[in-house]
Amino acid sequence: MVDFKRLEDIDVAGKRVLVRVDFNVPCDDEGNVTDGTRLVAALPTINFLRKHKAKIILISHFGRPGGKRETRASMMKLIKPLTSLLGTDVAFAPDCIGKTADAAVAALRDGDVLLLENTRFHKGETHKADGTKGYDPKFAAALAAHGDIFVHDAFSVAHRAQGSTSGIAASLPAYAGLAMERELDHLTQALDIPRRPVMGLVGGAKVSSKIDLLKNLVSRLDRLAIGGGMANTFLAALGHSVGASLCEHDLTDTALEIMRNAERENCEILLPVDVVAAKEFKAGAKHRVCGLDAVADDEMILDAGPATVDKLADAIDASKTLIWNGPLGAFELTPFDTATVEAAKYAARRAQNNGLIAVAGGGDTVAALKHAGVADDFTFISTAGGAFLEWMEGKALPGVEILKK
Ligand code: AMP
Repeated sequence: MVDFKRLEDIDVAGKRVLVRVDFNVPCDDEGNVTDGTRLVAALPTINFLRKHKAKIILISHFGRPGGKRETRASMMKLIKPLTSLLGTDVAFAPDCIGKTADAAVAALRDGDVLLLENTRFHKGETHKADGTKGYDPKFAAALAAHGDIFVHDAFSVAHRAQGSTSGIAASLPAYAGLAMERELDHLTQALDIPRRPVMGLVGGAKVSSKIDLLKNLVSRLDRLAIGGGMANTFLAALGHSVGASLCEHDLTDTALEIMRNAERENCEILLPVDVVAAKEFKAGAKHRVCGLDAVADDEMILDAGPATVDKLADAIDASKTLIWNGPLGAFELTPFDTATVEAAKYAARRAQNNGLIAVAGGGDTVAALKHAGVADDFTFISTAGGAFLEWMEGKALPGVEILKK
């Protein structure tokens, strides 16, 4: 288990605790929060700090205002939902640094909660003073001046070194918040010290976006199932016809190299053994199940077939840990969601009843598992997209490095 600094290890009473949350929540045109998952994810840390009488200062980015004030990117709209979730008043400062922020911080009593305005209203959050990418240490120092302690609770931004993350940690002691801790504990347990055999299931559109991830996984897992559009590149590399399917023909050598690496590392690769093919990329398109070499030139593989799902179920049964990223087909278009839904339900049942450790995350994965109705039945679902993928790629994440002992 990674040995990192945890919130529970310190005395926060009376201290000003600067908490980096990820409140970049989806909103409608009127500014109403349409999915409050990220607000809810921050509650354990905020409530812990309230219980232990800290002065709580929440900071986050929202959208991409690019260093300028933008009304629709204001955090102000989050005060109401946050107040109702916490059951207590939440103060607001219309800037994250400067006089208004300083005054709001100075007015905090023990147990109070303050939300500062969007960090990305300042260019220094994401750019150095010379305009290149990074962060401006002066901006970061102005943020850090609000706190005695820094708590990083936003794993979803852990792959970025920005002013409100690594920048603050440069001058304040940094600790993992409870949501961060949950992410790190589960992901470490799934990938670094897994109960074996450990299986990966990687789907999604393209190999090109997941080359590093596949390379890292074959060196760590006992078996790896590849699905979705990206499986087509592997099938093509093996000489199967993929018709008009989404396929990166220029990456067939990469696919072969990944398969060779897998063999060397004793990682079994599972590819589709049958597919669902259609001539149109739309919901309800006429389709048929066929074997690998029966895909016609004008057909597209849009999902894995039932024999493949059976094979995946057997592989899940033979595994103690499952790490899932990406759908097995074009799951937004019924009935091409079938393999994703069936396999997700199967994994969820095994997680609920047979002790399978099932961990998922990254991009469309959460949407796919929600669509299958099993998001609550997995052992853990990461709220992160890019950070989850970079973790799976085996990269050191700056936001995690600052928390290591
Ligand atoms: P990713 O963001 O790489 O995880 O890819 C997710 C996207 O891959 C989803 O929008 C799926 O519809 C798409 N996808 C999965 N399988 C296929 C396929 N066989 N053909 C086309 N798109 C696919």
